[in-house]
Parts: sequence; C-alpha cells; structure tokens
Amino acid sequence: MVLTPHAVAGAAIASFFKLNPFTAFVAGFLSHFFIDLIPHWDYRLKSARLDEVYPLNNDLVIGPDFYFDLVKMGFDALLGIILSIIFFTIGGGVSFWPIVFGAIGGIAPDALQFAYMKYRKEPLLSLQRTHFLFHTSYKIYNPVLGVFLYCLFIMFCLFLGAWSFFIW
Ligand SMILES: [Zn+2]
Repeated sequence: MVLTPHAVAGAAIASFFKLNPFTAFVAGFLSHFFIDLIPHWDYRLKSARLDEVYPLNNDLVIGPDFYFDLVKMGFDALLGIILSIIFFTIGGGVSFWPIVFGAIGGIAPDALQFAYMKYRKEPLLSLQRTHFLFHTSYKIYNPVLGVFLYCLFIMFCLFLGAWSFFIW
C-alpha cells in the first residue's frame, strides 16, 4: 500500500486509543502489516528490480531513477504525516507527538524494506519475510479505482480517529 493511508491509519489508531508517542509508534508499525492484507493499488517504482519467483531478491537500484522514486515516496510519506496532523491535531485537538509517531510507525515497515534491500541480514530478513507473509497478492491495476479506494480507506480512518472524541 502507498504510504499516505498507512500514515493516516497509524495516526487514527493513536487518536482512537489515546496512545503516547512510543505506543503510538508500535501500534502504527504493527498496523502496517494488517493493512497490507487489503487488496490495493501501488504506484510503480522505476528503480525497482522485481524477482517474481523469489521476491526476497527484490531490489531498488540506486541511480537517477532511484532519486526520482525517493522524491515520490518522500512526498507520499510527508502527505500522510501532514494530513494526520491537520485532521487529528489541528482538527481534532489530539496531542502532536502521538499523531506524528503513529504516522511514522505506520510508514516505517516500508522504509525498513529499503534497508533490507541494502543489508540482507537479520533482523531485517525476518522483517521482510513477515512483510511478504502479510502482503496481499491481489493487486489492483486501475489507478483511478486504487486512489478512490485509498480515499475511502482514509475516510474510514478519520471516522475511527474522530470517533474516539465521542466515546472516550
Ligand atoms: Zn508494506
């Protein structure tokens, strides 16, 4: 899944359970794997070299394409963190750090995938295996449908996060 919905989901969990920055990070991190179970669309990374037979060999090749991908992923991550702050902290009055750490926790497993590609040893190897174990094999190829479903998912997260204002 792209990074923005992962970030908003992590922040929503932090908001819903009124977590502190540390538990928000852990909960966001764990949420990542379960959210990857949901069929979704992903944008293409030009620097990706995918091994269909043995995905643990997947790589991001560092070069001009990689820097372009890095900007794309950076924008995606930043959008998720900024939306989380706008919705939950500015809009919902939830403390800043739990929201930021929840969002970062939600994104972190994908950043660690890149770390694994450059250092294919434990504990990153087990983490990568876990990532593949959870990640759905059902891909959505239509970007319009993909983005639409992401919007629905983010709205669900906002509902979940905002809901806590009424029940706690
Ligand atoms: Zn993932």
